[in-house]
Amino acid sequence: MKRFLLGWCILALILMSCNDKQGESKTLKADSSIQKKAEYAIVIHGGAGTIRKENMTPAREADYRAIMNRALDKGEEILKNGGSSLEAVEKTIMIMEDSPLFNAGKGAVFTHEGRNELDASIMNGADRNAGAVGGVTIVKSPIQAAIAVMNESPHVMLTSEGAEQFAIEQGLDTVDNKYFYTQKRWDSLQKILQKEDQSTGYLDQYPDYKFGTVGCVALDKDGNIVAGTSTGGMTNKRYNRIGDSPIIGAGTYADNSTCGVSCTGHGEFFIRWAVAYDVSAIMAYKGKSLEAAAKEVVNEKLPEVGGSGGLVSLDKYGNIAMPFNTEGMYRGYAKPNERVVQIYKDEK
Ligand code: ASP
Repeated sequence: MKRFLLGWCILALILMSCNDKQGESKTLKADSSIQKKAEYAIVIHGGAGTIRKENMTPAREADYRAIMNRALDKGEEILKNGGSSLEAVEKTIMIMEDSPLFNAGKGAVFTHEGRNELDASIMNGADRNAGAVGGVTIVKSPIQAAIAVMNESPHVMLTSEGAEQFAIEQGLDTVDNKYFYTQKRWDSLQKILQKEDQSTGYLDQYPDYKFGTVGCVALDKDGNIVAGTSTGGMTNKRYNRIGDSPIIGAGTYADNSTCGVSCTGHGEFFIRWAVAYDVSAIMAYKGKSLEAAAKEVVNEKLPEVGGSGGLVSLDKYGNIAMPFNTEGMYRGYAKPNERVVQIYKDEK
């Protein structure tokens, strides 16, 4: 009887494994027949937060849309001509860093002490090489400094004076900290300081918080995915606080086999929930699509714990996901014959 039962068990196991294999090959077949890689794709964000149409003037809205289109034009031109996703991400982010509209480079928010400390990171999905800088005050383009760390040093993250010294040695442009000054960001700091409660942080003092970080993910003709993020952090930050943007796996992540991700939002939550990596991990381990994975993190996991923000992402086929759990997010993407630039929640 025992032998009989054992025989049945073995037979059942063999049948089950055959079935599994069939299922697997079916999924793979379906996958490759439906999904065709886009020639190239690029997606950007310029921050999420309390962004409402009624608080925006038509002129200001037009400025945002124009600069996002200009950034996408630049990245798309590089990708269309066979350039690398690394170059596309670098040049696209630099356009947004140079614009006073976003909280990155010129236009960065102020620390409690009234200066600007910038963070940035970059990751290459082909080999998971990565670079980041945190708390730099004189580097004109933090994304270029992050790329230099990735390409020219054995390290992943450099901070403060050391990162600045490295950037100078690499011949990158430096500026006086005053270069980053904008009246709008200065006024935001004053507003928060007036309301300040010493024991707490940012959002409780300023419920209309806008995250203006910029980010970009690109897929080039060779199928390589690169993701990058650049920010001034959060208004009124102190004690050399560093958020998620320069942290690989939190604010930025790229893996050619899954996706590339760049985040914007309340950095402390994005670090603790390893947001950018989580999207990739859900795709890898649960077999979910990019859209479903990004939605699970941004619209289920984060809201449950009060983590506000969003992300932009693309997968190896060039599918795009741009979920956010705030009222708006500056966002857009470009693919061959396709261009989208959006700000508000209800834009389709
Ligand atoms: N995530 C950034 C930070 O926490 C802020 C932002 O997205 O604007 O530093």
